[in-house]
Amino acid sequence: MNLPCMNCKKEVEEGQGKFFAQVYVCPSCHEQAQHFHNRLVRELNFLLVMAKESIRLALVQSKFSFPEGPAGEPSKEQVLKEILLMEERRDRLAREQATCTASTGSTKPNAPTPDLLSAADDASLHKHSPRG
Ligand SMILES: [Zn+2]
Repeated sequence: MNLPCMNCKKEVEEGQGKFFAQVYVCPSCHEQAQHFHNRLVRELNFLLVMAKESIRLALVQSKFSFPEGPAGEPSKEQVLKEILLMEERRDRLAREQATCTASTGSTKPNAPTPDLLSAADDASLHKHSPRG
């Protein structure tokens, strides 16, 4: 008896099933999950590089100070927003400089915002407004 894919519920042929994060799935669902995960890893790695670069720039310009939030340290939201702003600025610069570097194959000027970031944004917008 063959087990079904936990995601799409289709029956998985024997020997074809795969695990993604300990979840038994069909090859198709596995490929999609893996693909999405790889993309997020790339995006997050890029954000890490950007974050480090911004700190490096601030340090060499003698402008670095630890950004203090309400709890004495920056919230994840704050950090993500800072990084997004930096990304926008860099994006604009890149477009202004617009040299012939058409090697990525991507024609879209803006990468889709990862779900992580929009989720963080939602959280910040989620305010209780007084009755009115
Ligand atoms: Zn499946």
